[in-house]
Amino acid sequence: MSGGGTPGGRRLGEALVRWFEEHKRALPWRQNRDPYRVWVAEVMLQQTRVDTVAPRYVSFLRRFPSVEALAAAGEDEVLKEWEGLGYYSRARNLRLAAREIVNRYGGRFPDSPEELRRLPGIGRYTAAAVASIAFNRPAAAVDGNVLRVMARLHGIDEPVTRAPVQRRIERLTEALIPPGRAADFTEALMELGALVCTPGQPDCGRCPWRDACTAYLEGRTGELPVRPQRTAPRVVHGAVAVVTANGDGARAGRRVLVVRRPAGGLLAGMWEFPWVETAPDASEAECEAILTRTLRDRYGLDVVVDGGLPAVRHVFSHLEWRLQVFAARVRPGAEAPAGRRELAAQGRAAGEDGDLVWAAPEELDGLAFGRAHRRIADTWRKRRPAP
Ligand code: SF4
Repeated sequence: MSGGGTPGGRRLGEALVRWFEEHKRALPWRQNRDPYRVWVAEVMLQQTRVDTVAPRYVSFLRRFPSVEALAAAGEDEVLKEWEGLGYYSRARNLRLAAREIVNRYGGRFPDSPEELRRLPGIGRYTAAAVASIAFNRPAAAVDGNVLRVMARLHGIDEPVTRAPVQRRIERLTEALIPPGRAADFTEALMELGALVCTPGQPDCGRCPWRDACTAYLEGRTGELPVRPQRTAPRVVHGAVAVVTANGDGARAGRRVLVVRRPAGGLLAGMWEFPWVETAPDASEAECEAILTRTLRDRYGLDVVVDGGLPAVRHVFSHLEWRLQVFAARVRPGAEAPAGRRELAAQGRAAGEDGDLVWAAPEELDGLAFGRAHRRIADTWRKRRPAP
């Protein structure tokens, strides 16, 4: 095929941009190329499907319409707005980067990929995407879709997960950008990957690059891109307790115990019901025993387990949770540990394991949960006895 950087390479870029002008979808983030809007869209679209993102993007921008609004928001608020989209470090980093843009750059986005990459959560791809789409800089934004299209176009048969292959694809992509059309080109290439050069069976008959594409001409579209075999996610078994209180006031009987995950790692800072890892083959009785012991050791909480609730399974990219869920209540006559509200009322701060809340059922909607624990919350609310 025509070499990168040559007039032939640029002609391919121009053909792609013309195709895009005719075929692009009307998506909420394409209303204008304001850098804040472009950035939020690029971060949301990582690992998440377009039809899931579209309504959530509109709602996120309604809630945080500017980089200043996002910078002024609390972490809880941003996590709550992000709930269900997964990969929550994206939300935390968005807020941190917004604060930096406001504090360090006076609210104006840096326009070069190098400077953008100094902001929290902005890697090579996002920096290049924002620089090219919002500022028309000739930077190649290479994500999984672009790796696939370029590997097919150029017939690259090394694994596209390897960093040197990705750098090479970056250079090859850059060489296709028509002068002055970086923004259109970047969006066009993403659109080609989403609509035509799709992972399964690409629709080569509709592709503006068909006559130059190695994979198409050699009948290798099914083999490319080359990816190493995925390893199966690690399975973690656990037992979860939905503990209702028996106290008065802030810990009255209809309230339920939720705890906050640590500030780093998986689902950092999100809320969940207390739980503990168990052996894969743990029986119900063993789960109940280990839960009772854990609640006592971790929170000084003495409970009676009332029975099982539906189990929950959740698959992350690298990990799978299989959780047995139990309804429990504070043992009659036992003291329930103070939550953050009670501590605050006494002028004390919540500690690492002490960051817990006795939440009224309706308050659960206002806390940011991961998907698995949101499902548990919803099931428990439907099943609990009427007050
Ligand atoms: S011709 Fe087919 S395989 Fe090649 S880039 Fe176009 S859609 Fe992808």
